[in-house]
This record gives sequence, structure tokens and C-alpha cells, in this order.
Amino acid sequence: MSAYGGKPVEDHRRKWDKAEYEKVAKERLEKEAQALLDETLGKKEKPVKRELLKPREYKVDLDSKLGKSSVITKTTPSSQQGGYYCNACDCVVKDSINFLDHINGKKHQRNLGMSMRVERSSLDQVKKRFEANKKKMEEKKKDYDFEERMKELKEEEEKQRAYRREKRKAQKRKADDTETGGNMDPDMAALMGFSGFGSSKK
Ligand SMILES: [Zn+2]
Repeated sequence: MSAYGGKPVEDHRRKWDKAEYEKVAKERLEKEAQALLDETLGKKEKPVKRELLKPREYKVDLDSKLGKSSVITKTTPSSQQGGYYCNACDCVVKDSINFLDHINGKKHQRNLGMSMRVERSSLDQVKKRFEANKKKMEEKKKDYDFEERMKELKEEEEKQRAYRREKRKAQKRKADDTETGGNMDPDMAALMGFSGFGSSKK
């Protein structure tokens, strides 16, 4: 096709379809005006109400398949393929970091029916939490005190036992001495049939 031919040269520049865009712009303006009107009249369209974000109540299993191997075929369901399977979203994530990202992500939470909005705690809730934590700490301290006390008691007992053992030994020694007449009057010892070491013979 020649520019010098009979036909007019086709212009490659984009041309705005003015009529079309004017229509679009008008529609948009009308929509915006309507939205503004609705808003002022309190007729605002309500967004889909989702639950607030809640903490997980289970431990995320990241390592149960660690070091294990399994055979995967074309027909293996995605839940049994390698990687981390999310049954809420029916998808497989290849590693633990991305899996954590996924289950903390917006899409996953939405599939669970939650928005990413977090409940704002009231002053009372915060106070209560402080109270609970304080109690927990005191309990821990009490436990510690108890253990400490038990240890002390045990040591005390051990000392007592050692002391009694010592005492018994001492008594026995004394008794032995008496038996051999060590501390006895030689005459008395002779009378009782004991013989001292040398001193009792007359
Ligand atoms: Zn998911």
C-alpha cells in the first residue's frame, strides 16, 4: 500500500471517541453524585460484614512431613501432593514460610470468613488482661517459693538425721565403754564379772 495511492493514508494515531468518553464521564459523575446523595441520606450500601480477625487456637503443623517421602502421581489429589496444603483455600504452598504467609494472609482469612480488622480492646479488657497476667506471675512466684521451701525442709531433715546418727554413735560408744567397764569402778566391774585391763586384778 502506497502513501501515494488513491486511498487516504491510514492514521495510526489514537483518536478519542469523544462521544463515547463523554458518555462514560457523565455516567461516572452521575454515579458519584448518587453515591454522595445516598451517603448523606444514610442509604450507604453496606459492605459484606465479616467477622473480626481472631487468633488461631491450634498449633500450625509445619514439620509432621519433615524427612518423609511419598510417591505422587498425576492423579494424586492436591491435598496429598508435596508441600503444605490449605484446605480452606484448596491450594498447595511449597514451603513453610510461604504457608505461614498464606494462612496469615487476606485471601485465606477471607475464605475463613474473617476480615483483617482486629477488635479494638476496651479499657476494661486491657485492665482485665493486666490483672490476669499479674495473677499468673504471682502464682509462678508461689510455685517457686514452694519449691524453695521443700528444698530447705529436705536439707533440714538431712541435718537432723545426721545429728541423730552422730548421737546414736556416741551413745553406742559410751555403752561399749561401759560394757568393757572402762568408766566403772574396778570393784564393781569385778563384782559384775567384767575384767578390766590390768587394774581389776588384786
Ligand atoms: Zn488458605
